[in-house]
Amino acid sequence: MNLILLHPDDLDQQGYARISDPRRLAHLRDIHRAAPGDRLTVGVQGGGMGKGALIELTPEQAVFALEPLADTPPPALPVHLVLALPRPRMLARTLEHVTALGVKEITLLHTKRVEKSYWQSPELLPEKIHQHLVLGLEQARDTQLPSITLSKGFRPFLEEQLPALLHERRGLVAHPGMSMECPRGISENTLLLVGPEGGFIPWEVEKLLEAGCQGMHLGPRILRVETAVTALLSRLF
Ligand code: SAH
Repeated sequence: MNLILLHPDDLDQQGYARISDPRRLAHLRDIHRAAPGDRLTVGVQGGGMGKGALIELTPEQAVFALEPLADTPPPALPVHLVLALPRPRMLARTLEHVTALGVKEITLLHTKRVEKSYWQSPELLPEKIHQHLVLGLEQARDTQLPSITLSKGFRPFLEEQLPALLHERRGLVAHPGMSMECPRGISENTLLLVGPEGGFIPWEVEKLLEAGCQGMHLGPRILRVETAVTALLSRLF
């Protein structure tokens, strides 16, 4: 938690913020070893960042006196990430990583090699997803939550969502064995599609290419989804 991320409800009209949930309190105590008088970096979800002086820390609550929150969060990556739904634990880590890297738009997609049972996982409950996104924001010192869309059918995605997503975005499908190398250091708006642990099936790749995406690879090593996504984002942007 390199940033104490505050919810607008944590703030009062007088410029103080109070937090009382066990996770942030434990983090302040055990990791920051914070004590009254410390100035810590704080930010408000969806808003600005700045410093807050810790004026009270008890087992029940921490109170910060906020300085003007005039700093803006770091820039977002110009990418909409379409991620075939990975298994729940991988999803949790991947959401955290990509949020820390600055992705603001994520679609979780069903493909042939996604296990249907993954869609029933508690990791997909809004509050669970929210937790992972918050951890990513706190890690990277950011305040802007990504938006997450669940797309539970490949064909409806192809027909109803993909055309709009490809409007003014360059579509790139990460798939081992494609002939093009993953581009480096691009700045254009991008739609990046990453397959499930078993990969996209050939028919899916064919349909994505027909729709106007380009296939590309990251070299001969097959990476896990969470590693592939991190490598792709750092190389692309
Ligand atoms: N077993 C699959 C790979 C699955 S890896 C296969 O052999 O095709 C999971 C996803 O990570 C892939 O669908 C792809 O989107 C991405 N990925 C992993 N390694 C990659 C590489 N070397 N090049 C491009 N994409 C890769």
